[in-house]
Amino acid sequence: MQGNLDKEGADALRKKIARKTAPAWDRLTEARRKEAFAFAEGYRKFLDAGKTEREAVAAILDAAVKAGFEDLDAPSAASGKYYRVHRDKMIALSVVGKTPMNRGFSLVGAHIDSPRLDLKQNPLYEELDLAMCKTHYYGGIRKYHWLARPLALHGVVIKGDGSRVNITVGESESDPVFTVSDLLPHLATKLQGDKKLSVVFEGEKLNLIFGSLPAGDEEIKERFKLNILALLFDRYGIVEEDLVSAEIEAVPAGKARDVGLDRSLVGAYGQDDRICAYTAMEAIVALGSPPEKTAVAMFFDKEEVGSEGDTGAKSVFLESFIGDLIEKTGGDRVKELSSALIRAKALSADVNAALEPDYQSVYEKLNAARIGYGVCMTKFTGVRGKAGSNDASAEFTGAVRKIFNSLDIVWQTGELGRIDEGGGGTIAKFLSNRGMETLDCGPGLLSMHSPFEISSKADLFMTYLAYKAFYENI
Ligand code: MN
Ligand code: MN
Repeated sequence: MQGNLDKEGADALRKKIARKTAPAWDRLTEARRKEAFAFAEGYRKFLDAGKTEREAVAAILDAAVKAGFEDLDAPSAASGKYYRVHRDKMIALSVVGKTPMNRGFSLVGAHIDSPRLDLKQNPLYEELDLAMCKTHYYGGIRKYHWLARPLALHGVVIKGDGSRVNITVGESESDPVFTVSDLLPHLATKLQGDKKLSVVFEGEKLNLIFGSLPAGDEEIKERFKLNILALLFDRYGIVEEDLVSAEIEAVPAGKARDVGLDRSLVGAYGQDDRICAYTAMEAIVALGSPPEKTAVAMFFDKEEVGSEGDTGAKSVFLESFIGDLIEKTGGDRVKELSSALIRAKALSADVNAALEPDYQSVYEKLNAARIGYGVCMTKFTGVRGKAGSNDASAEFTGAVRKIFNSLDIVWQTGELGRIDEGGGGTIAKFLSNRGMETLDCGPGLLSMHSPFEISSKADLFMTYLAYKAFYENI
């Protein structure tokens, strides 16, 4: 018993047995701080290059090819570093390890889709002599975030003859942008003043202003819309029906920026979850000699809408890629796939909602992620009593914690908000349903799911170190 400790004794005891958390900056040497800042330069470029899942796939593929990764499906590929692109919306990278796949592998899985406004398939109309464009929002947005701000269009159109046109408008200084107009405050009082936030902004009113020039005089029917159709045809050779087979996303226009006078933070659209995608990509690309276990990085689409569909984390792409990797490394997929999966260890690489300085009441502070406190291990997510959650085992959480501690990686833990306040999920449960031991692990963000999410450069760097350490040591 420690019945009558003096201050000195209490301090010594506390140092020995109490958990201490501190900002990551406190634990970074000057040289490490410089590394963290330099790392963020590449990150901002990645965010600018990959604002959609398709663009992110292209950016990841580019980095992988430069690092010597080969197409898994190329018969001549034998370097032990492989990639596979799936339908232009998912990509997997792998570095073959020393032990056979049936002994398990290590996976870091991130997602590369983000909330946005998708153009509808029959989007163009005119109203009050303005050409307008209808959208259908994708993922969890606060609708008012998307009003009265410059938006860019990124996407792909499959034309009637099957050919493809890529479209990006609104990112270059000389490009026009698009916007959803909002009501003047003076006129909003009666219509919106007393309404609940959940009903005041309607999805069907998230319509983009597309133009205001008529094609010809007033004798011509729908001449404002016709002018836009003419511009689309002239510029891209597309006709109205082509928009049916198109995926065009309206995303916040502009580049990622440093935030704060000290430039210690990054502000940008789509950091959920491209901050984990970038750090996972950099981690697997940085692996020098083959790791003990085969390292896999997977970049999934459709997380923001429940990981459904052929490009989401629930799809059989995962088994297909792992099975082919087993065969590529001389194994038998029929006999070995299930043992490979059941012995695999996975980090579900996704962000957590960092404690917001002005909205602390929705968090439980003892168990909330903090911005700048390093990579966050989220043992479980879910709602109403962990329902719908992967709840990582004590053993696996302990193994990851041990690795991070041994390499001085600054980490923290976090839940997603107070109990019964809300909640959410990640791809973790879809990985662990396959038998893999899985833990959610990624940085905390401020303004998460907004058009301008905030991350800490210290957390960004720690996340990269964490994923790399996981690959090298698990
Ligand atoms: Mn996410
Ligand atoms: Mn999200």
